[in-house]
Amino acid sequence: MKRLFRGGTVVSGKGTRRADVLIEDEKIIKVGRNIMDPAAQIIDVTGMLLMPGFIDAHTHFDLDVCNTTTADDFTTGSRAALRGGTTTVIDFACPNKGETLHDGLKLWHEKADGKTYCDYGFHMTIDDWNETIAREIDDMYAEGISSFKMYMTYPAMMIGDELMYHALKKLKEKGGICGVHCENSGVIDALVSEKKAQNQMGVSSHPETRPDYLEAEAVSRLLRIAQAVDIPVVIVHLTNAAALKEVEAARKRGQKVYVETCPQYLVLDNTVYYNEDYLEAAKFVCSPPIRTPADQKALWSGLRRGEIQTISTDHCSFTLAQKEAGRGDFTKIPGGIPGVETRGELIYTAGVTTRKISLATMCKALSENPAKLYGMYPRKGIIAKGADADIVIYDPQADHVIRAEDMVANVDYNPYEGFITRGSIAQVWLRGNLAVDHGTVVAACNGQYIARGKNAL
Ligand code: MN
Ligand code: MN
Repeated sequence: MKRLFRGGTVVSGKGTRRADVLIEDEKIIKVGRNIMDPAAQIIDVTGMLLMPGFIDAHTHFDLDVCNTTTADDFTTGSRAALRGGTTTVIDFACPNKGETLHDGLKLWHEKADGKTYCDYGFHMTIDDWNETIAREIDDMYAEGISSFKMYMTYPAMMIGDELMYHALKKLKEKGGICGVHCENSGVIDALVSEKKAQNQMGVSSHPETRPDYLEAEAVSRLLRIAQAVDIPVVIVHLTNAAALKEVEAARKRGQKVYVETCPQYLVLDNTVYYNEDYLEAAKFVCSPPIRTPADQKALWSGLRRGEIQTISTDHCSFTLAQKEAGRGDFTKIPGGIPGVETRGELIYTAGVTTRKISLATMCKALSENPAKLYGMYPRKGIIAKGADADIVIYDPQADHVIRAEDMVANVDYNPYEGFITRGSIAQVWLRGNLAVDHGTVVAACNGQYIARGKNAL
């Protein structure tokens, strides 16, 4: 089956151009001016922007945390992702403590296979290090896992500097890439104890015990460990100016560093934690916490200057009932917010239409760079001959208001409630099939596992 998207503007990391896009079955077969093909079904996209399907390289679906499970599993999460223009997610597979990477991978395939609406891959979490795990790293590449994750905080997951060094050394041998959650665990614990001693158990103690400089400290330490190993690393969900300065310093001494940020750090600020109403504040709790307007500014500037390469969501959703768990004790609030359904429209509105970033930069951050960094390019991340026909059709005129009640994610609130978008996603095509039509998910549940190759960014 051939289809011809006619009359639109095609977006890439280089810029925009007027071009028609011809697809056949799951693939793009031609991009150019005035394409004629009598066999093709014509889809008129006059006035529309055609962007490569967004990639969200940071989701947590069906994850057990804080004595509960995320509200979204692979089914509801991937439907929400598609509705937000995301055609591929990379979720974090996470072995239970003491289990092997193979166990973790098997578990994640069980959670996702046959239940996921968009395409998907996994990063593998390394929360321990020994001979067995070192051998398993080789097997992971054979399974299409080319990226890993380590934590510098959270007792259940953190690996410590020494083991992190050993793990990075092994990944270097493989030409691998690792994303790291950077926050100083020890001092955060001490600050939490102080808050408890002062009986300051409200939501505002969450950001106050996780200040920007303790994230910057961990970024700095990670980058020095990476220097010792001589390996590029990914800073996931970077939130603030001080942390970005540490990245700049590492780059100045010649290190390769990739940086990810998220919409919540670009469009929200820390006043959300000071709402008198517990749930109104708790629903924004995530780690690292949402920062200041000055930090937002630094992040936009970092995107504009190419210092930040990707925007993912860290989608980790909990219902308001689940968020109740931390009333009277901020340390018990399940940490995480929903994001997969709104990322594209938020970044287009808050970034592109305000000229903080160009459309090309948005395309790099949401599609092209994650595809390259995580070994899916040029199958994903670009509208070009030979790529998967994953296409977001964006209508720049169709402004609307973000409302939780319109969302398909399994969450009863939205952090961006009332946000007025500039334009909206008109359609989403996944491997040549219409997946979303004007807000309605029409896709069948046939997301594919994407075995990924090595970093090419
Ligand atoms: Mn994290
Ligand atoms: Mn995360």
